[in-house]
Amino acid sequence: MPRSAIQQSEVAPGAELEALIGPSRLPAVGTTVFTVMSQLAAQHGAVNLGQGFPDWDCAPALKALVAEAIDAGHNQYAPMAGVPALRTRLAAMQQGLYGHTYDADREITITAGATQAIMTAILALVRPGDEVIVFEPVYDSYEPSIVLAGGTPVPVVLEAATGYRIDWAAVRARLSPRTRMIVLNFPHNPTGVTLRADDLVELEALVACHDLLLLSDEVYEHIVFDGRPHLSLARSPRLARRTLVVSSFGKTLHATGWKIGYCCAPAPLTAEFRKVHQFMVFAVNTPLQHALARYLEDPAPYLGLSAFYQAKRDRFVAGLAATRLRPLPCAGTYFVLADYAAVSDEPDRLFAERLVREHGVAAIPISAFCTKPGPERLIRFCFAKGESTLQRALDRLAHL
Ligand code: PMP
Ligand code: GLN
Repeated sequence: MPRSAIQQSEVAPGAELEALIGPSRLPAVGTTVFTVMSQLAAQHGAVNLGQGFPDWDCAPALKALVAEAIDAGHNQYAPMAGVPALRTRLAAMQQGLYGHTYDADREITITAGATQAIMTAILALVRPGDEVIVFEPVYDSYEPSIVLAGGTPVPVVLEAATGYRIDWAAVRARLSPRTRMIVLNFPHNPTGVTLRADDLVELEALVACHDLLLLSDEVYEHIVFDGRPHLSLARSPRLARRTLVVSSFGKTLHATGWKIGYCCAPAPLTAEFRKVHQFMVFAVNTPLQHALARYLEDPAPYLGLSAFYQAKRDRFVAGLAATRLRPLPCAGTYFVLADYAAVSDEPDRLFAERLVREHGVAAIPISAFCTKPGPERLIRFCFAKGESTLQRALDRLAHL
């Protein structure tokens, strides 16, 4: 609307501002499903197995280290790329876990959570007109990040019927001269699928023939079950040289509220990443970084995480046997999908809303991760909860 058309005295309050704002940069975005379901859970006093966060506190030793860092005066800006001790610690971890040497000064950046790292990587490297392949069901922050960069998300569907494995022929079919990047997220939220060795081989073959960047969201890297290793893209030299690996301390250290993550990438990619990072946040919470650097000297907390969550998965999945919900296999993450077709034919959003209101259990409808919902009747449960919380949920689900 031309500016002259806005007559202050004639328009309803807010309408003038709407005209000023014009078309939204993110027209499809509303409040995230995680926020909506957590609010509904609180409203109805439901057991919240929706949004992914543990319902216990992080380690007392970690909190004590934060207090020490604050007392020691680590309270001013951290260096833009992150506190050197933490970057050095992460370089050693990446080397020990995945055999890849990242230069702590030039290839590791500490971020305000994985969400910021993902947005920063995409804004830094995706140009207007570029296409970016994502796998659906897809974590909700990728597509808005791509759209803000002026790119186009190109979804490749992971099919329930094939256990949500990547169909590499489908990936190849979606490549175009404009494909700039593939975003991967394994262990995968919400399906719990992990990468297998042949996936890395397929990906290596693909990038050998196509000039592609890879963004690998590995926030659940330490939650992988049944003795399988986590296949970080950093394990493959041919992939690591074009990959930004993103992770987060939120999941690994039971501190999702701290919002500290990191991005490991070859120096030229990191240089571009930091150009955006330094004007998006400049630097990240200083005392927490000092505390994390010291806490991570002991690998036990992250090395023990898979066994810790595997026991929870097993107990929760065994408990579901007494309900009419059918869990799908879960190889990693702290989420499990459950099929409710035996209970209801409703679309998953309606079912999830009714589950909170009438049965007092919150879950996430899988359609929230999809542009075109499939025929499956699936909801996602988060089992990062104490035993009594999980038992209360199972007791309620048994009445479905
Ligand atoms: N990626 C995935 C797949 C996630 O599930 C989450 C949040 N749980 C994030 C990124 C965001 O991590 P952070 O809270 O560190 O921003
Ligand atoms: N990643 C968390 C989940 O998948 C939620 C994070 C958020 O609320 N944005 O449940």
